[in-house]
Amino acid sequence: MHGDRGPAASRVAASRLAPSPTGAQHLGNARTYLVAYWSARAANAQLILRIEDIDSPRVKPGASEQAVADLRWLGIEWDQGPDVGGPHAPYVQTRRTRFYDEALQRLIEQDSVYPCTCTRRDIETAASAPHVGDEGPIYPGTCALWRRGHSLPEFGSYCWRFRSRSTPLSFEDTLAGQQTCTPQTDLGDFPITRKTGEAAYQLAVVVDDAAMGVTEVVRGNDLIASTFRQLELYDALGFAPPTFAHVPLVVGTDGRRLAKRHGDTRLSQYREAGMCPIEIVHWAASTAGLISEPLGPTDDIANLQRQIIREFRWEAVSRETVMIDPSSMKF
Ligand code: GLU
Repeated sequence: MHGDRGPAASRVAASRLAPSPTGAQHLGNARTYLVAYWSARAANAQLILRIEDIDSPRVKPGASEQAVADLRWLGIEWDQGPDVGGPHAPYVQTRRTRFYDEALQRLIEQDSVYPCTCTRRDIETAASAPHVGDEGPIYPGTCALWRRGHSLPEFGSYCWRFRSRSTPLSFEDTLAGQQTCTPQTDLGDFPITRKTGEAAYQLAVVVDDAAMGVTEVVRGNDLIASTFRQLELYDALGFAPPTFAHVPLVVGTDGRRLAKRHGDTRLSQYREAGMCPIEIVHWAASTAGLISEPLGPTDDIANLQRQIIREFRWEAVSRETVMIDPSSMKF
């Protein structure tokens, strides 16, 4: 395994790729996964693949296998994951529910959460990470008067909601710089389970990242608000938080996050059309500011990956949003 190299192995850090099989992986995801991969390899850290499939109604059949194939196609290799095993197995969230239940019990005992019977959209959608446009209105605290020991509403009629703090919280993002907000007023109390009692995204991701020893989280910058919530959970559960690097999103020419309306940017579509993944890797590295040379006709993907990893430095990574017109991209 990559982490087991010499004396540094005992303090080897870990990073992760956490695809949700709720849809296809596209160009925007690819770029973020590649940056996570390069950073992990450059730091000689473990890279973990974790399948975030707890949003069962939205999980698409075959999407996990597709995500694994897409990542491998890009030349990304991981040290731990559902297909290769590892010390923190299982690497599929639907098989880790006992860990989420344990953490929930601790939060209940600490009175850090309360049962919320409000039928709001944020409870229904809580199983998935809230990407841009998914953040609902701030919860007004209707159910927050409940205290530990009070009787519970009927099972199935409530989610558990986390009492967020009313004092400012800051973190230093590797790419986005200093981030500060006051969780209670800026974001509101947030659900950590669904009404079925199953863990929601915020709880599952923190429990897993902590259990798997993840020390660096690299993901799209539309999840910065969630990082504040996750930092609160790290604190409440007594886990040491990782560092966070939120990578700017890829947007279409209208400035909006790359989506279906911009054309088909699914990696599987490029793969099936016989495109060469080296073009995507080269595009990702040059838009990230990590290489400047054009692609040579004899370059191969393994060499290109090695070159990028050798030269990878967070200080060099671009902080700019990347705008593309998929229809004019010549992969
Ligand atoms: N599974 C999440 C998603 O694909 C990733 C969230 C995270 O990186 O924390 O939206």
